[in-house]
Amino acid sequence: MSLIVKKFGGSSVANAERVFNVANIITEEYRNGNDVIVVVSAQGDTTDELIEKAKEINPKGGSKRELDMLLSAGEQISISLLAIAIEKLGYPVVSLLGWQAGFNTDSNYSMARIKNINTERMRAELDKKKIIIVAGFQGLNKYDDITTLGRGGSDTSAVAIAASLKADKCQIYTDVDGVYTADPRKVKNAQKMNEITYDEMLELATLGAQVLNNRSVEMAKKYNVELEVLSSLENKPGTLVKEIVKMEKMLIRGVAKDNNVTSISVIGLKDSPGVAFKLFNKLAQHKVNVDIILQSVGRDGTKDITFTVSDTQCDDALEAINELKDTLNYNDLTTNTDVAKISIVGAGMESHPGIAAKMFESLYDADINIQMISTSEIKISVLIDSKYADKAVQAVHDAFIG
Ligand code: ADP
Ligand code: ASP
Ligand code: MG
Repeated sequence: MSLIVKKFGGSSVANAERVFNVANIITEEYRNGNDVIVVVSAQGDTTDELIEKAKEINPKGGSKRELDMLLSAGEQISISLLAIAIEKLGYPVVSLLGWQAGFNTDSNYSMARIKNINTERMRAELDKKKIIIVAGFQGLNKYDDITTLGRGGSDTSAVAIAASLKADKCQIYTDVDGVYTADPRKVKNAQKMNEITYDEMLELATLGAQVLNNRSVEMAKKYNVELEVLSSLENKPGTLVKEIVKMEKMLIRGVAKDNNVTSISVIGLKDSPGVAFKLFNKLAQHKVNVDIILQSVGRDGTKDITFTVSDTQCDDALEAINELKDTLNYNDLTTNTDVAKISIVGAGMESHPGIAAKMFESLYDADINIQMISTSEIKISVLIDSKYADKAVQAVHDAFIG
């Protein structure tokens, strides 16, 4: 007998028919003699719709605490509906909200981190031979308030359960049949991978491939949870995410796109020591995550610094920089939200010269200008005008993967 954790995303439980489809997958596993814990997301676009409802009342959406209270409701609906379907099929089942399943988090509303899971209740339900359905994406902080784990956070809920109960498998069911070399809905000739390493998957997820939430991959690597990404609609093997994979002859594992990027330019800074330190120190104090950084060559004693942040952190960044207006005495502060980050990822690129040149050539051939560049051992990212984002992904994918 094994313990299997299965996670189903919003589209997999979008309507009654899909809920029954998922109930059948779960009960089949149970009939095979296994313990089954299931994590579900809110149905379809429920989370987005709840955000819109809040905006009807307050265009800014309200405080993060109240938004978490609101958004967590989506998963409460889907767990109960799925449990009702499983009851109807005649199997013992119990649905649990995040706090009932023992999810303790920090108090960073809307982006909370799991501190630990008190597994007592889940163990007791397993002992009673129940199928357990857990609300993903949510937990409870030390004030007994509901928190959420950030968009796409149900993946992390599933991996966290698998890690804390040492499950034999963690399967992430979604609306595509695995991890591809690029978003298969957008890119022609995207290829499914049988296996991918944690590190490569972590980069792809962080750089915009939403098929897995990046925190879930980070946690899977840390606790050595083998993940499988597979389809809830087609019964076939998906993609395994693990430490070591059989090397396929593929230098570049994937191409990812992130539209959720804003570039911020601080113009006319004094060209002297300590300026960059003061700027980025202030941003760090405001918990702003800075991504690509570009500093211009100094001229006439001044320089410009441009950097990127996620769209959601733009206001926090501007607030931080404004606090430095008198200290840094810059001339101008500009933002550009019409940018996208296109990245290639692959552990093989480290030892192969010419990868960057090939990527830039493919963008040149597509007549797309590069605004900023950043590299690491296993990825290269460029910032471009967002209106060319899809064209750029296709061009880069054609160049490396075909
Ligand atoms: P769920 O609701 O099941 O969590 P998501 O919408 O979060 O599903 O993630 C699945 C989607 O991720 C797919 O429909 C696909 O369009 C998108 N996606 C982006 N990049 C990739 C990739 N490299 N491989 C597979 N899917 C990808
Ligand atoms: N329902 C949440 C979201 O839409 C969590 C998830 O789907 O994983 O982001
Ligand atoms: Mg998701």
